[in-house]
Amino acid sequence: MGIIENLEHLKKQLYPQVKLVAVSKTKPVEDIIALYNAGNKLFGENKVQEILLKQPHLPDDIEWHFIGHLQTNKVRYIAPFISMIHSIDSLKLLSEINKQAQINQRIIDCLLQFHIATEETKFGLNYLEAQNILESPEYAAMHNIRICGVMGMATFTEDENKIRNEFQSLKIDFEGLKKEFFESGSSFKEISMGMTEDYKIAIEEGSTMVRIGTALFGERIYS
Ligand SMILES: *Cc1c(COP(=O)(O)O)cnc(C)c1O
Repeated sequence: MGIIENLEHLKKQLYPQVKLVAVSKTKPVEDIIALYNAGNKLFGENKVQEILLKQPHLPDDIEWHFIGHLQTNKVRYIAPFISMIHSIDSLKLLSEINKQAQINQRIIDCLLQFHIATEETKFGLNYLEAQNILESPEYAAMHNIRICGVMGMATFTEDENKIRNEFQSLKIDFEGLKKEFFESGSSFKEISMGMTEDYKIAIEEGSTMVRIGTALFGERIYS
């Protein structure tokens, strides 16, 4: 199947309230244009260098989401245009995003990334660390970021129950933070979970945003 057919096929499986982030990492600008012309305006990239190469060649109304680990010293490069950053894993990173957003006179939407997998390699916070960020005076003084929810990546495994349990734990963390910190206000609403191998489970467990690469663009080739 081609990219457009993949998109149509995927859309049929998503509830209307679930947003699709088309993960275009390693894929050329032409592939992004093809999906854009087919009506998809939301794309995700995980490397600063790569998004900076592509973004100038693509329409301005693309909504770019940054989904990979983000180093503090690189925030300033994406701050002028990034719509949402899914990978907040420290107060230091959040402070830098706030600072750079302020310089660009913008508000940048952010998700707190939770470490829900058993793999050591994945980044993210636990509940206590997220609480510490949200209770800090530094966070209280930030006016150019908006925390819109949480993000998590499940363990890479065939064990569906394990994946399901990890997504359930992310949903519980989301509900906890919502109750504790975001009861008033409507912007804390996103649960970014689910990729090509596990998006069906993620949706069953309450995902509001799936990040899908392979099922749209085909296998990635890393040289
Ligand atoms: C690459 C990537 C995805 C998409 O992965 P697929 O398995 O190709 O759908 C989703 N989320 C993050 C954070 C990624 O780095």
